[in-house]
Amino acid sequence: MKTRITEKQLRRFHRLLSVKMIDFNCGELCAPKNGGVPICCENDYVVPILFHEEFKWHRNNGKFWKRMPPKNRTIRKFIDESESYYVYSQCPGPEGCKRSKRSFTCMTFPFEPHVSRNGDILGLVYVNGDKSTCSLIGRPRKTYNPVYIANAIKFWKELFALYPEEQELYIQESRKRENRKKRQRKRFSIFKTV
Ligand code: SF4
Ligand code: SF4
Repeated sequence: MKTRITEKQLRRFHRLLSVKMIDFNCGELCAPKNGGVPICCENDYVVPILFHEEFKWHRNNGKFWKRMPPKNRTIRKFIDESESYYVYSQCPGPEGCKRSKRSFTCMTFPFEPHVSRNGDILGLVYVNGDKSTCSLIGRPRKTYNPVYIANAIKFWKELFALYPEEQELYIQESRKRENRKKRQRKRFSIFKTV
């Protein structure tokens, strides 16, 4: 498969997203409600996706990430229907987590980009879910480090330049979100720095 994210760019993405998002350990909020495991680190519940370059880069530096075996029909279908450049992976779990080994999906959760019809990133929004899926969802803007927000927006912008398919995907997701919120008569926060 063609390499679109160079090693230099992978290191840059990691640097950008390594800035602290919050100044507390949010795992302490959700883990007690989930048998001691932070919900987003529950590999059976949230299947981590790595870009194929990202997976290869981590594998060249150890065996932290492994390909996720399709344990059931739902995961198999999910993998079959998604982009071929994703690698569904599993990590050793929170006990063996290393900050330097986290994936881009780990470092961007619980946010995703909200994108205009012509592909401009309008800011970050919470992924679809609520407090029961992530204790950060719904928290106010002041919770987050503005430098992290700016860096994550830079990350998505640069990633879209390399993977226009991702931009297209988020354009569609953003329209779905707008329609969903309109139906529910709910507003949603868009996090940006200016
Ligand atoms: S990001 Fe959300 S789900 Fe993940 S550890 Fe923090 S509160 Fe829990
Ligand atoms: S790499 Fe760390 S942060 Fe990411 S899912 Fe695994 S345990 Fe959680």
